[in-house]
Amino acid sequence: MMTPSKPAPPSAPTPAPTPEDRLYRIVEEGMCIGCGLCESLAGPESVKMQVVDSGFERPLVVGALSHETVDAIYDTCPGTRVEALPADLAAQASSRDLVWGPHESFVEAWAGDPAVRHEGSTGGVLTALGQFLVDSGEVEFLLHAKAGGNDPTFGQPHVSETAAEVLAGAGSRYGPTAVLQTVHQNLDKGRPFAFVGKPCDISALRALARRDARVNQLIKYFLTPVCGGFASPKATEAFIENHHGVQKPEIESFRYRGFGCPGPTTFKTADGQSHAATYTEYWGEDEKSWNVPWRCKICPDGIGEGADIAAADNWPGGAPDPAIEADDPGTNAVIVRTKAGADLVARAVAAGYLVTGSRLDADHMSTVQPHQVKKRQAARARWDGMASQGRMTPRTHGLRLDALRETLSDEVYEAQRKGTAQRIQDGRAGEERPKAKNGL
Ligand SMILES: Cc1cc2nc3c(=O)[nH]c(=O)nc-3n(C[C@H](O)[C@H](O)[C@H](O)COP(=O)(O)OP(=O)(O)OC[C@H]3O[C@@H](n4cnc5c(N)ncnc54)[C@H](O)[C@@H]3O)c2cc1C
Ligand code: SF4
Ligand code: SF4
Repeated sequence: MMTPSKPAPPSAPTPAPTPEDRLYRIVEEGMCIGCGLCESLAGPESVKMQVVDSGFERPLVVGALSHETVDAIYDTCPGTRVEALPADLAAQASSRDLVWGPHESFVEAWAGDPAVRHEGSTGGVLTALGQFLVDSGEVEFLLHAKAGGNDPTFGQPHVSETAAEVLAGAGSRYGPTAVLQTVHQNLDKGRPFAFVGKPCDISALRALARRDARVNQLIKYFLTPVCGGFASPKATEAFIENHHGVQKPEIESFRYRGFGCPGPTTFKTADGQSHAATYTEYWGEDEKSWNVPWRCKICPDGIGEGADIAAADNWPGGAPDPAIEADDPGTNAVIVRTKAGADLVARAVAAGYLVTGSRLDADHMSTVQPHQVKKRQAARARWDGMASQGRMTPRTHGLRLDALRETLSDEVYEAQRKGTAQRIQDGRAGEERPKAKNGL
């Protein structure tokens, strides 16, 4: 007689993820952009931004961390949530465009002071606006970024109370820049300020505003560069080594652009040697050669959907002409998104801080930012590819991703979706659990 087979022993239940697991999941799935907001929310005694093995700055859990704090991080982190303008501000905008979003106007502009225009990344618009705001006393300081921090090729948060300090932060930092690392410290001051950060940093602040009323009370203006992503630290290291024979630890200072548009990429070593390359030598001829983090590759908003003003380059085709790279004085293509932004531009022009040129339109913006158009159209397909592999996709507000998806043919949608899924399967879309570079 056959004995009945024994039922299989019940498998051990999967342990529930710890707060640490949940925070690290954002990093492991390649969704962390290194903004520093989680450190600011949790406190540096709990979560600390540190350089990790990948070369990026990532949050490390260094003390007690609760699920409640991680819930707050998931609610605001630009890896888990992407926010455009609050609905009331978006509704007030005079015009809207499927790709470019709610806006008051698009306009050419540059800094009124030729020295600021020269030193600025493009035409010095963001610096000029920051200087106008602190000089006029409308805000008490500007929270933005300047070179340095954990590495001379990185950026770090910078609080500027004077026009000279604002100018010290001019130029684009194409290395990791945790500009939100000190945002709570700055909110705690209870003083009005303006903020400059990448579109993902602005999104994080718009999300934080849903939890912390001080954001809208104290941050008077949200300003942003249009952003195609920043460079992987390992790519910058390889560039320094392969093209200039310099080892990263020898570097004392590093400037990506400015002093012309885009101006040279320059760096100095501790022994006083200076090195220079062109923007095109650093970034390569086109978008395909950009070595940017995964989160930037699937970014749904590099155009500052949450900002009052977004300042972009104005190069036909999206890249500088190498023949005139050294001589271009710099002109920004500016997206004036809100009524507050339009009022700020008008007052900065009247005070001589800013000069505006030709009015632009959405078609022009698409001509000078073709990579932004493609990314916005492809975001839904890429996120569907991520979801098909069990990856997290951010919650969004106000980005029109489904309507943008409709501008793609089914063939292109499928190619983007499958390509993303394949990258994930190939292990090209994630990171190791963060571990401090020094092994701590
Ligand atoms: C990572 C990155 C990617 C970019 N990609 C594109 C692109 O794809 N297309 C395009 O048209 N333009 C891009 N830009 C924007 C462009 O380089 C200029 O920054 C923009 O045109 C504004 O020029 P400006 O002369 O007004 O800036 P500036 O007057 O020089 O002012 C720049 C301001 O931005 C702040 N800042 C610089 N880097 C960072 C950073 N990493 N994080 C937070 N704040 C920072 C500075 O503190 C300063 O206040 C990018 C900029 C960055 C930082
Ligand atoms: S994106 Fe910012 S908030 Fe999110 S995990 Fe990274 S550093 Fe923290
Ligand atoms: S491309 Fe998007 S995610 Fe990457 S730095 Fe720019 S705004 Fe942030």
